[in-house]
Amino acid sequence: MQLSGWGNYPAVQADVLAPASAAELQSLLAHNAYGNWICRGGGRSYGDSALNGRVVSSRYLDHFLDIDEDAATVRCGSGVSLGQVLEVVIPRGLFPPVLPGTKHVSIGGAIAADIHGKNHHVEGSFCDHLESFSLLLADGSILRCSAAENAGLFHATCGGMGLTGIILDATLHLNKVSSVSINNRSFSAKNLQHCLELLDEHNAATYVVAWLDCLKQGEDLGRGIVYVGDHGDDDNLQLVKRRGLSVPFHTPGFFLNRFTMSQFNNLYASWNKGRGDTTLQNYEQFFFPLDSIGNWNRLYGRKGFLQYQVLVPTEAKDILSRIIRRVAESGQGSFLSVLKKFGKANNNPLSFPSAGYTLTLDFRWRESLFPLLDELDALVLGCGGRHYLAKDARLSESGFKTGYPRWQEFMQVKAEVDPHNRFASLQSQRLGLTPVSTSHSSHKKAGPDK
Ligand SMILES: Cc1cc2nc3c(=O)[nH]c(=O)nc-3n(C[C@H](O)[C@H](O)[C@H](O)COP(=O)(O)OP(=O)(O)OC[C@H]3O[C@@H](n4cnc5c(N)ncnc54)[C@H](O)[C@@H]3O)c2cc1C
Repeated sequence: MQLSGWGNYPAVQADVLAPASAAELQSLLAHNAYGNWICRGGGRSYGDSALNGRVVSSRYLDHFLDIDEDAATVRCGSGVSLGQVLEVVIPRGLFPPVLPGTKHVSIGGAIAADIHGKNHHVEGSFCDHLESFSLLLADGSILRCSAAENAGLFHATCGGMGLTGIILDATLHLNKVSSVSINNRSFSAKNLQHCLELLDEHNAATYVVAWLDCLKQGEDLGRGIVYVGDHGDDDNLQLVKRRGLSVPFHTPGFFLNRFTMSQFNNLYASWNKGRGDTTLQNYEQFFFPLDSIGNWNRLYGRKGFLQYQVLVPTEAKDILSRIIRRVAESGQGSFLSVLKKFGKANNNPLSFPSAGYTLTLDFRWRESLFPLLDELDALVLGCGGRHYLAKDARLSESGFKTGYPRWQEFMQVKAEVDPHNRFASLQSQRLGLTPVSTSHSSHKKAGPDK
């Protein structure tokens, strides 16, 4: 079947296997001794990290194993989505400490990318709240891993993009909360400098995120809205069931152009006047606004889009304005642009977050985009920054190795547990983490027709 990440670029032909249990997975591995695989969870990574000619889906590893309300922990299969976790834990007054911008991410995918939320400055990333997981290794054995048990493998798997083995189940720590409503305050930022000041000013709040208008230039460069959220005190532990609209097919690629995007940005900025007023929102509205439009990725057309998410270290924050200026000048403006402030890095060699700012830009696929992104790479890497692998579809090997200087530490662990590189993705081959595969012919790139 044809398979792609959330950005619909690249697309490949892949054989997809969906085992229903660890035992079935072990027997699949044993009977297919050649070639390599990559695991796929919710398919919400944007690029090619969950793509290969052979893909193992965690879809049916979707069981709950234990919930301990006193200890505030949940143990579940790696194919369980964060949305399913919320349904089980919210009525018990529990809440995941780290949530991304969509609830359709699986637990396995959340660990493999060590995902972050709007509160990295307070809670760190997903794996900082992970008690343990079990991992199916290339030789068919299963190991329990935690910060105390098989610690090297634990840290390499957290953020390791599925390259150390297949996570079968995991035990997560949750926060105890009295409400899942969010008091959301919004503040207008007249330009990037103002936006950075607001992020600093509200650094003590639980959740902080900024939306930026990347089409504005001159004095308005980087104008935006900063959202500041804290849990409400209304004792609300109600689940929210939203039935939203869905985009039924790929819209023509020209649908999102400079004109429509700038109209959207102007409307968005005036709707959200950003005077610091507080609105009480339900958790779905606050954390997962895009989930209310099913298949919104189709708005970018059949050729898909690329999301470009980078980290700029605190001391190099001036680079942010150079990136945004270059994007505005290029006329390839980003539809969704988000800025967050990160706290300190953790001990995982391939985890993305580190002290600084993370900027996320979406670009419709087109030939001329690639030289622009190469230019942005030079700015990011030149200031000690890096790219988020869960969003990446085109970074070079040298760009990856510069941005992730601990990559060799990761490779040492990988060589111990997977010496024949049975776990490999298109991304790992492109980034030089695994050799380029020649063992099967089924993964032909079915990239965009030009
Ligand atoms: C709308 C939207 C908003 C997002 N917002 C955020 C955000 O705020 N913060 C953030 O950090 N990310 C965000 N993301 C990205 C997303 O959280 C990550 O890409 C995450 O890894 C996706 O999980 P998945 O289950 O869909 O995994 P997939 O996309 O299927 O796979 C991602 C990686 O995880 C590996 N993997 C999956 N399951 C397993 C397993 N069981 N064992 C071993 N490896 C496995 C895959 O091999 C692959 O390398 C967002 C994505 C979307 C679409």
